Amino acid sequence: MVNPFFTCRASGPACRVPDVTRETLARGNRAGRPTRGKPKKLCGPLRTARETLSFKTSSFVRFVVQFVWLWRSSTDLCRETDLIRPFPVKMLLQEGAEASKLLASMGMTLTEKLLARAGKKARVTAGEAVWVDTDVLMTHDVCGPGTIGVFKREFGKTAKVWDKEKIVIIPDHYIFTSDSKSNRNVDILREFVKEQGLKYFYDVIDDPDGHWIYDSTKSPLQRQYGSQFAGVCHTALPQKGHTRPGEVLFGTDSHTCMAGAFNQFATGIGNTDAGFVMGTGKLLIKVPETMHFRLEGALQHGVMAKDVILHIIGEIGFDGATYRAMQFDGPGALGLTMDDRMTIANMAIEAGGKNGIFPFDEKTKEMVDYRTKLNGTKSSYTPVEIDNDQSFCYDLVVDLSKIEPTVACHPDPGQRKKARDMHDVTLDRAYVGSCTGGKTSDFLEFARVLKGHKVKIDTFGVPATPEIVGDLQTIMWDGRSVWDMLVDAGVKMTENAGCSACLGGPTDTFGRMNSPMKCISATNRNFPGRMGHKDSQIFLASPATVAASAINGYITDPREITGYGK
Ligand code: SF4
Repeated sequence: MVNPFFTCRASGPACRVPDVTRETLARGNRAGRPTRGKPKKLCGPLRTARETLSFKTSSFVRFVVQFVWLWRSSTDLCRETDLIRPFPVKMLLQEGAEASKLLASMGMTLTEKLLARAGKKARVTAGEAVWVDTDVLMTHDVCGPGTIGVFKREFGKTAKVWDKEKIVIIPDHYIFTSDSKSNRNVDILREFVKEQGLKYFYDVIDDPDGHWIYDSTKSPLQRQYGSQFAGVCHTALPQKGHTRPGEVLFGTDSHTCMAGAFNQFATGIGNTDAGFVMGTGKLLIKVPETMHFRLEGALQHGVMAKDVILHIIGEIGFDGATYRAMQFDGPGALGLTMDDRMTIANMAIEAGGKNGIFPFDEKTKEMVDYRTKLNGTKSSYTPVEIDNDQSFCYDLVVDLSKIEPTVACHPDPGQRKKARDMHDVTLDRAYVGSCTGGKTSDFLEFARVLKGHKVKIDTFGVPATPEIVGDLQTIMWDGRSVWDMLVDAGVKMTENAGCSACLGGPTDTFGRMNSPMKCISATNRNFPGRMGHKDSQIFLASPATVAASAINGYITDPREITGYGK
């Protein structure tokens, strides 16, 4: 059989796609559909591969004939001599049939079930490569232009995407900056959306013929987007009704795994793969092994979902789940809110995970049904349920009631310590925001700790989406909005929802560290240079721990501010 990862050396470094992909490109971008744009010819090595295949087919036929002849001869010999027993083919075939029956009746993990369904197979096993159908492809301003470039290069300048309603484009990364190339990226997305007639584009501006230019003369705290802007893609996807149980979501961003909270297979892919998905709706995926995290008990006062995932990554290491699925289930998982599950699934990639996934329950249904109805997106879905006899490559029971406020120290998310043991780490900056730590519930917990206090260090608040800005400006505590309460406490709150300094960005990005400093952050990644200056240090923590640390100016367990056990 042809190696599916055959490398086409003759075509040079640009020709890195799997040969199955190349053959599909050669035949047309969908089975039974003619190729749009200029048809591509098979390169020399692919022709050779086909010739090899036909050669191997004839060899196989010769092998079968020889085998049958030898078997019949040996059986005759046995009958004549009665010295040796005949080759037990029948018995082997029977045992083989039994084994396949047993295999067919064995359970699959949630990820295996999703990939089997998306690949139209009865079952799949870890390590197997399977072509899956895509339900949603998401891209943003950083990777969108590159993905579009790959799509046009491979499928032709006039090619059309495989499905206009299954591509979701959300500019969110380098938006509120005067960097002209970043602004131009948003324009490239808009032009592509217009050309293709895509249904879901959450533009920064309202004018479909306009150009995005950030006005740096205005305050960075003041809103500069139109009515369609959605904010950080991973938080916006569920808010806008694009996450559905049982589906496959690919996104050109590593934290796409966040949507696993909704019982779907969601993972980040590169521009080349995304360009291929854009043209065909399909992708070849190696089924990952599954690591099992059974959550029991309930979170204690002052402890958040962020502490759970930092605890788990500390346990297995920041590469402990490399190319594996992380399945979170058990009574503790079902006790978590959807926001909590999103935080945990989001950081599966920080342990190297292919995806994170939670079971489907009433909470999932309630949120998905509400959001799809609100936005008029596809509302039908079929979740995958937990089997009794799943097979895992790793098992860990996590008692949520034993977890304490946790910090991941510089320089990677696996450097776990307890917040209460870190008073010696003095800080220059605090940051709350991002897909992981910028949801409404994150800001409410942040505000609950800050209530009645002032921050001692520079503290930045960046809500993940405009909807969250709206929530914080309308939720009232003691006659004041939570937003105003945070501003009074000294937090620099911006209405310009987005990724902001979570990924550093151009030097004028709000909250970016432009000199070496120590920052405690509710974001998800702390590799050197992640939030700006390469000599800075980032300490990852929950919004509650960020608030307590901002009050004291050194890393602090939030229970020291709010009282233990309250
Ligand atoms: S907020 Fe941070 S982690 Fe989330 S998508 Fe943006 S840059 Fe990535």
